[in-house]
Order: sequence, then structure tokens, then C-alpha cells
Amino acid sequence: METDLRNKEVFNTEACTLCGDCFHKCPELNLPLDLAKEEIANLINGKTDGHVLAHCTTCFSCNHYCPHDCKPYQLILERWNDLYNKRGAPPIYRFVCPTMESNIWQMLDALMEPEEMEWTRDWISREPKGDVLLIGNYVHLLPFVVGKSRLLDLITPIDLIDHWECGAYLYQGGYLDVVKSIAEKCRADFNKWDVKTVIPMIDAVHWMMTSVIPNEMNVNLGIEIENFHQWFLDKIDAGDIELTKNLGLKVTVHDNCYSKGGGDPYWDRPRRLLELAGCEIIEMEHIREDALCCGFGAGASWVRPIAILYDIMAVAKKKFEEAEATGAEAMVSYCGGCLYLLWTAKVLFESKIDVYHLVEIQRMAMGETINYPEDHYKRAWDLIAIITYHSIMSLWGKPFMIDEGSLNNYPLAPRKFLLLKALRKLLDISIVQTLFKKGFQIMVPLLK
Ligand code: SF4
Ligand code: SF4
Repeated sequence: METDLRNKEVFNTEACTLCGDCFHKCPELNLPLDLAKEEIANLINGKTDGHVLAHCTTCFSCNHYCPHDCKPYQLILERWNDLYNKRGAPPIYRFVCPTMESNIWQMLDALMEPEEMEWTRDWISREPKGDVLLIGNYVHLLPFVVGKSRLLDLITPIDLIDHWECGAYLYQGGYLDVVKSIAEKCRADFNKWDVKTVIPMIDAVHWMMTSVIPNEMNVNLGIEIENFHQWFLDKIDAGDIELTKNLGLKVTVHDNCYSKGGGDPYWDRPRRLLELAGCEIIEMEHIREDALCCGFGAGASWVRPIAILYDIMAVAKKKFEEAEATGAEAMVSYCGGCLYLLWTAKVLFESKIDVYHLVEIQRMAMGETINYPEDHYKRAWDLIAIITYHSIMSLWGKPFMIDEGSLNNYPLAPRKFLLLKALRKLLDISIVQTLFKKGFQIMVPLLK
């Protein structure tokens, strides 16, 4: 059926004047204009060996710079999809594949606190019904952000790990054919359940469900979708959520890549929530359509598998330098995907600026107590242990394809991960932590 085909013509070749503005203004690459023109022409002609595909952080900004709304970002994704079909995904990518063995969620189960396990098991085991809050893959890594909150008395939380955030992070890596399969799986599942409205906790999934899935994947999910931050604001307006404390914090806001899909409403709502909590916002040099990546997106443009983690951390370092330059006490992320990466980078680079999830700020303003920063420090070292363990295992791995069979391989049986646990114990020793951080700080500029 025609409607079932993925839309491969999102980039508007006819309207493109080859002006090069998109990559020239790119906040991450800032290519000289001549090179920017050459790169766009090469991408249109199907070339996959240029500078953009090797260094883009998949930040979405270039779509905002195109005067003709050609969508150069989608052209990049299409070429990465070509590369994926040619060379596969890098071995290290397995760890974000929730339906494959030794993924980050399976490994984290071996390290989580019993209370966290209770929350996540409860969210996963509920059959989605009526109006639901979709916790999602990345907030799942930091369940303490929302686990104990009264917010969960207002809406039923569910967790759909095998929906891969509705394909959001695969989309950014250019795994477009896989995203199409995931969109169809999501549609089949939602049709099977008695779901009315889904409120995804991150804007990335909201954008996937409201824009990418229907328009680029030609899949109608058949459900209502509501924005989490708008839901929050509406609950405050209706008096269902009371903000009783004025926090008086000076904060700076990290705008994530997907927020650039939705634009002003996605950028304004979190800022409004921060103001209502009594925060003073000091903006970074690059915000909104110009915002710099948290680092996570730098993994999409891999060339050498061995350097992926260092490329990611080099980009995260830039973000911290910009956040610290504001003089704010804290950086606030409204995306759980960015937050775990930012906390890992904060620990490794020993940044002094606090890093919060927007929900943690709201909870403090609601008078709730959060175990900050202890929960984040512990989780950051858990994730550092997992990433280190997985990177070592990946040294012997080969590029791979995410096939239909592996998409449905869920749930996976729990495993003990004894070596990972031993490594995690080692990383609790202060001198080991110090050596690890120093080693990492030396390696990033060398390997990036
Ligand atoms: S997605 Fe971002 S990093 Fe990539 S080319 Fe566009 S503006 Fe630059
Ligand atoms: S995509 Fe837009 S900004 Fe980029 S070269 Fe074409 S017309 Fe210019």
C-alpha cells in the first residue's frame, strides 16, 4: 500500500539553492561557506564521505537556518541511513538496543537500588489504559527523578522500553528504515491496548509521535498525544499542582536537539515552569535554535568506533564550558536523555555547576524532598561502569544490523553481570575514581 511506504523525499531538492547557509551557520561545525556549499551538493548527489556526515551532532539547527525550509537535517539522516545499510551500526551501539543482550537497561537492573527496581517494574508491568504518562527509556535510567513524586498520583505512569522512545534516538542516528518498523510496532501495540492519551515525558518522543511518525514514516498511531510540559502548566493553572516554595535559584537552560523540532512552544514551556518555581534564568550563548548538543548526538556521526565515546565527551565539555560561563548555580535539562549524559560528563570533567532535571526543580517547588545530588552521583558512576564495561566488550564486536527479529526480542531474561558489578565496586574507591577522571580528561583531547 502506498501509504505504508516511508517518505524518503523530506528534503526539498528543487527548492535548495545550494547557498550553503545551513552548514555555514551550523553552531557545531561552522563550515567555511565554500565548503558548506560543496557539502550540501555532495549530500544531494548521494556522497557519504564528507565532513558533515563525519562530524554532525544531529542537533536539528540547520533546518532553522535554511531560508527555503528545505530540511537539510533530513538529508543528513537519509545519507546516514545509506551508510547504515552499507556498513551496519557500530558494535558499541548495541548497548542502546533494548531488545538485544547486554543493553544499558538490562545492565542497570543489576546495579539499581531495590526501590528503583520496584518503581521501574511497576511502570513496565502496567497495561497501558486511558490517559498515561510515558516514562520512556531515558527517564527509566534515572527513575528517582519522578519515582517518589505526588505527580504520579495525578497520572498513570507506564514504561515501554521496547518502543525505543518511539524510535527517537534511532531517527537521529539515521536508522530510518528501523524507525519505520518501530513506528509500526508502536501502532500495533497502541491499537491492541485501550489507550486514549499518551503524555511522553520527553519532547523528543512528543515530536516523534506528532510529526516524524505520521509525516515521515506514514504511520498513524491512532492515539491522542499531549505535551508533558503543557500538561504540567495546565495542572498548575487548575490548582492540581501547587508550587509552595520559591526556590530563588539562578539557572541556565539546556535546550535539547528535539526541542528544535517544535520550536517556540517547546522552548517556552520549560522556561515558564522555571519562572513559576521562582528561578532566575541566565541564558547561555547558544540557546533555542542555536543550542549546542549535550554530547549524545555526536555518537551518530561515527567514523572510528574506538573514538565514539571521546567524541561524545568532547562535545559535552563544550556544553559545560558554556553553562559555567553564565555564572548560574545550576543547569536544567528538560530531557532525560540529555540528563544522564550531562551527569556522566559533569562527574568525569569535575564540573562545579549543578545539573537538574526540570521535574526535580518542580518537585522542590512543590515542597517535595529529593536526594540531590547523591542519587545522580551514584547513577553517573553506575553508567560510567556500564559504558566502560560495554566498551571493553565491544572491542571484539563487529558492526551489526537491527533486524525485525531482534526488534521483538523482549523482555530479555535478567542476567547477573558479575564482572560489571566488580568493576562498579572498584569505581567506588576514591583513588580509582580520581585516576579514572584524570585519565579520561587526558584522553578526550587526544582521541577526539
Ligand atoms: S544537525 Fe546540527 S550539527 Fe548537524 S549539520 Fe545540522 S546544524 Fe550542524
Ligand atoms: S538546504 Fe537551504 S540553507 Fe542549505 S544549501 Fe539548500 S537552500 Fe541553502
